[in-house]
Amino acid sequence: MKKVALSACLTGCTCRYDGKENLNITLLKELSSYEIVPFCPEDFCFGTPRPTMDLVDNGDKIEAISNKDGSVLSSPIEKYAKDFFKKNSDIKLFIGKDRSPSCAVRSGKVYDKEKNLLHTTGTGLMAKVALDLGIESWDSEDYLISLKLL
Ligand code: SF4
Repeated sequence: MKKVALSACLTGCTCRYDGKENLNITLLKELSSYEIVPFCPEDFCFGTPRPTMDLVDNGDKIEAISNKDGSVLSSPIEKYAKDFFKKNSDIKLFIGKDRSPSCAVRSGKVYDKEKNLLHTTGTGLMAKVALDLGIESWDSEDYLISLKLL
């Protein structure tokens, strides 16, 4: 069975920053021929509930910045992602939650250091690791749109 890495909140896991989920039954039905390998870097690294974070372009790199205290949160997320794909080296498909600073593939909001919105096509830090590894990667909404299910 082929494996798909899927944002855990889309499977119904209550791991969102606010302790809620983003259960997507349509997506789960569509992926029924896959073995789903759920992931949630933010729950693993920071627990749930937790303060939100945003992607900020500091000129050299896009970082995850805490909205609570401005701290840089990128390193543990990137480490989680690298460890995840090392452990699951046979993942063929990555589907991330849209607009998440960790999981978005091409739908993340990216700000400058003054918190002005630069664009809304950014890549979350875990999705970036998937793309860098050459794994086919989709935002969940784009995936469903491509199948004419949204
Ligand atoms: S980090 Fe990803 S998997 Fe976890 S709650 Fe946010 S969008 Fe969902």
